[in-house]
Amino acid sequence: MTNSIYKNYIAGEWVEGTGTVENISPADSKDLIGVYAQADAAQTTAAIEAAQKGQLEWQESGLEQRYSVLMAIGNELIERSAELGKLLAREEGKTLAEGTGEVYRSGQFFHYYAAEVLRQMGETAASVRPGVSIETYREPVGVVAIITPWNFPTATGSWKIAPALAFGNAVVFKPANQVPASAWALTEIISRQNLPAGTFNLVMGPGSQVGETLIHSRNINALSFTGSLETGRKVAAATAVNLVKCQLEMGSKNALVVLDDADLDAAVECAVGGAFFSSGQKCTASSRLIVTEGIHDKFVASVIERMKKLVVGHPLKEGVHIGAVADARQMQQNLDYLEIAKKEGATLAYGGEIVAEETDGHYLQPALFVDTTNDMTINREEAFAPIACVIKVANYEEALATLNDTNYGLTGGIMTQSLKYANDFKRNAKTGCVMINLPTAGTDYHVPFGGRKESSFGPREQGTYAKEFYTVVKTAYMKA
Ligand code: NAD
Repeated sequence: MTNSIYKNYIAGEWVEGTGTVENISPADSKDLIGVYAQADAAQTTAAIEAAQKGQLEWQESGLEQRYSVLMAIGNELIERSAELGKLLAREEGKTLAEGTGEVYRSGQFFHYYAAEVLRQMGETAASVRPGVSIETYREPVGVVAIITPWNFPTATGSWKIAPALAFGNAVVFKPANQVPASAWALTEIISRQNLPAGTFNLVMGPGSQVGETLIHSRNINALSFTGSLETGRKVAAATAVNLVKCQLEMGSKNALVVLDDADLDAAVECAVGGAFFSSGQKCTASSRLIVTEGIHDKFVASVIERMKKLVVGHPLKEGVHIGAVADARQMQQNLDYLEIAKKEGATLAYGGEIVAEETDGHYLQPALFVDTTNDMTINREEAFAPIACVIKVANYEEALATLNDTNYGLTGGIMTQSLKYANDFKRNAKTGCVMINLPTAGTDYHVPFGGRKESSFGPREQGTYAKEFYTVVKTAYMKA
């Protein structure tokens, strides 16, 4: 489909918005990716109405049709992962390899849920009343609104859209306004599938218009949100008023613990990869490095040596490890956090310089702070930046207590060769995911993902657990 303006997709039609936005690469201000339509409240309401109609038809579709649709979307994402990964890298700033990997992974989400389509089973129960039989099974929840952030433009939408469609729901998809191209490309693939009109809708636009309309709607049945804690609180409050089912995945302040007995090389790789790749713009990034005294100095020196080898540059350039920061606002926030850390007494051990590239983009060298304490702002708030802070501790017990001393709880990691500490950590880290001798970032696609405390709210995402959110349970009593 050729378009001078990339349009919204509502009720099976490509429709103009009430405005447009230019999508400019954060890696190069001269790289205009496209002009994207902006929906307003009325269009968003129209998309919800279309979804209500589409859902009634889609829930009656045979499982074979649903399976085929999801497989086809997954196949195309995987086949086109290099092309769409390049688009993603251009609009979000992560490297080509990261972009391609993300699109490939998105295809895997659709494949996984294609298989789940064929695995929808119920249960039977004996009744306490003679002659009565009982069945319990799951039905679609209905119309699902999906609101996503900019840092994983294809994957976040995919891990929500795939289960929504698999379980017979209709979708109104609102991507982050910084990254409409990846959402539009995914929608274009979905638009060519055998889906009733209105089953899938794309409404691009700002949170203040499109997002607010969705979260206050009484005509959606569920809302799945990934984004910041601040917006998540608004989503929870608005959906609670209408008693709309809601699921939130938000920020975090993940830590990687490095004990004296850790394999030093592995610890350095996990710390550097987890903290700095994708410019630290991952909800699973290890922004806190909690290190015991015996290994502290060696670890810091080795991390700095490793950081010197990291190449920051244009996301499409070969040999680049870290691409661009997502936009000017995020870049300014990163610089502000560097200043806050210094003011509060942290020592900048390496990095933190603005990198000049041939193209006019937002490039920041990763930064490592030492001499930090867990009560510093930089260790309390999610910076979403390529900034890691080392916190020195006496022993495992202090490391665990420090890791848990945060309002967040998405992922937590430990580097150790001790079975005793690894086991204790698995049980006592107050995070949704724990990683032993692995980076805090990087998860599989067939198992649940989510956090605790202010990182997550509502039923878990991904794996078989996703059905808790995307379905409702029916209990059927029958007397012959
Ligand atoms: P954000 O909260 O600013 O925006 C997220 C989405 O909400 C966007 O689509 C935005 O347009 C929309 N939105 C904004 N205001 C709204 C409103 N009033 N009503 C409804 N929708 C509104 O977050 P962001 O800056 O795009 O993303 C970064 C955040 O996402 C970080 O905190 C990061 O940790 C988090 N994140 C979490 C996960 C996870 O799975 N836990 C994954 C990726 C990102």
